Amino acid sequence: LPKDEKEVLKLYSERLVKKLEKKNLDLENEIASRKKIEKELIEAKEKAEESDRLKTAFLANISHEIRTPLNGMLGFASLLSAVLPAEKLKEYINVIKSSGDQLLKIIEDILEMSRIETSLVTIEESEFNLDQTIREIYNLYHELYQLRKPHIKFTLNLDEKLTDINITADKVKLKQIISNLLENAFKFTNEGEIVLTCSVDVSCINVSVKDTGIGIPEESQEIIFKHFRQANDKINQVYGGTGLGLAICKNFVELMHGEIWVISRLNVGSEFKFSVPVNFTIKDREVKDQNRDSGDIDLEGAEIIVAEDDKVNFLLMKNYLSHTNCKLFHAEDGLKVWDLINKYPGTKLILMDIKMPVMNGIEVVKLLRSHNINIPVIAQTAYTYDYEKTALMKIGFDDYISKPIEKNNLLSVISKHISKT
Ligand code: ADP
Repeated sequence: LPKDEKEVLKLYSERLVKKLEKKNLDLENEIASRKKIEKELIEAKEKAEESDRLKTAFLANISHEIRTPLNGMLGFASLLSAVLPAEKLKEYINVIKSSGDQLLKIIEDILEMSRIETSLVTIEESEFNLDQTIREIYNLYHELYQLRKPHIKFTLNLDEKLTDINITADKVKLKQIISNLLENAFKFTNEGEIVLTCSVDVSCINVSVKDTGIGIPEESQEIIFKHFRQANDKINQVYGGTGLGLAICKNFVELMHGEIWVISRLNVGSEFKFSVPVNFTIKDREVKDQNRDSGDIDLEGAEIIVAEDDKVNFLLMKNYLSHTNCKLFHAEDGLKVWDLINKYPGTKLILMDIKMPVMNGIEVVKLLRSHNINIPVIAQTAYTYDYEKTALMKIGFDDYISKPIEKNNLLSVISKHISKT
């Protein structure tokens, strides 16, 4: 071939090779992207199946978890109808109470999780002394488990620096996280030791709950922080549980911009640790603590109105206040509160349910405040939503207690407000 034709042919063949190479590349890209889509589809399908499986397992679990304490309560309550020796009576009542507590914990966890999922949970900061708060939690669990698991040694390890400083953080959530971790530690430990440690560094508090319990296999150490997840299927058969506690802890810690993690060895033990950034202040004054133990108090004939449409709740309240020397008046609805206030203008305090017939608690408070009646009013809320608390204070309530009401908490809030008047 003549030289220039050779050149042309070479050029053509080079172009052809290039075109082919490009086609090849396109094809490879196409295959890769299809493979990616296929992988994503498989993952989505597996995720959907997994979530379906979890939902079914959760429903089965939850149904079992709710029925167990309910059975205990109903069963033992029916036994109370017979005439029983005092010892037996006490035993049965204890079963009913602890089953009730168990049920309440499950319901609270489910509600908390659904509030987290709907982004209703917010951080409510206040200034408090962490040393005192941790000691209170420690004492509570020490007392509780000295009866249930007396062979386990439970120790507290507190940084000395904590006595002289206050921190600003969400106290309720911190208490809830530590309580959840301690409950798990006691639940999964049959012998040995549990240590609660709290220390501070420049801008963080560090908390650790260490146990010598059953431990967690390495492959499950991440998933246990997801909701409804437990280390394995056998856990539920032996220990029960909903798999919600750690998911709630993780959510709370992350809302506080902190971190939570676990170090664990199967059959040796686990250490759950979390650290959250907080503001420190030097403790130069006592901060008011609503949860302090008030013991027996004398209300010296103070007139108190309990606005409550539920008879059982009123009876409970009456019982809690029976040793305080106060004069209780019962209002079954909001309007009755108004009548009672007019009849007893010396009333020292009102315990106000929110949901009531005729006139609800909020309407009553608005009415009282618009008539310049400034008697302290304490809201009794069925479930403490953060936004509710703030809103209630703005309306004119002086304080709140959440239901189910604890005797100590009730007495402490009442004495706080009555001593002010
Ligand atoms: P629950 O305790 O209701 O199952 P959690 O979310 O609190 O739910 O815990 C999830 C799982 O993590 C538990 O089921 C258990 O398998 C594992 N776990 C949590 N704490 C411990 C612990 N201290 N020791 C051993 N396993 C634990």
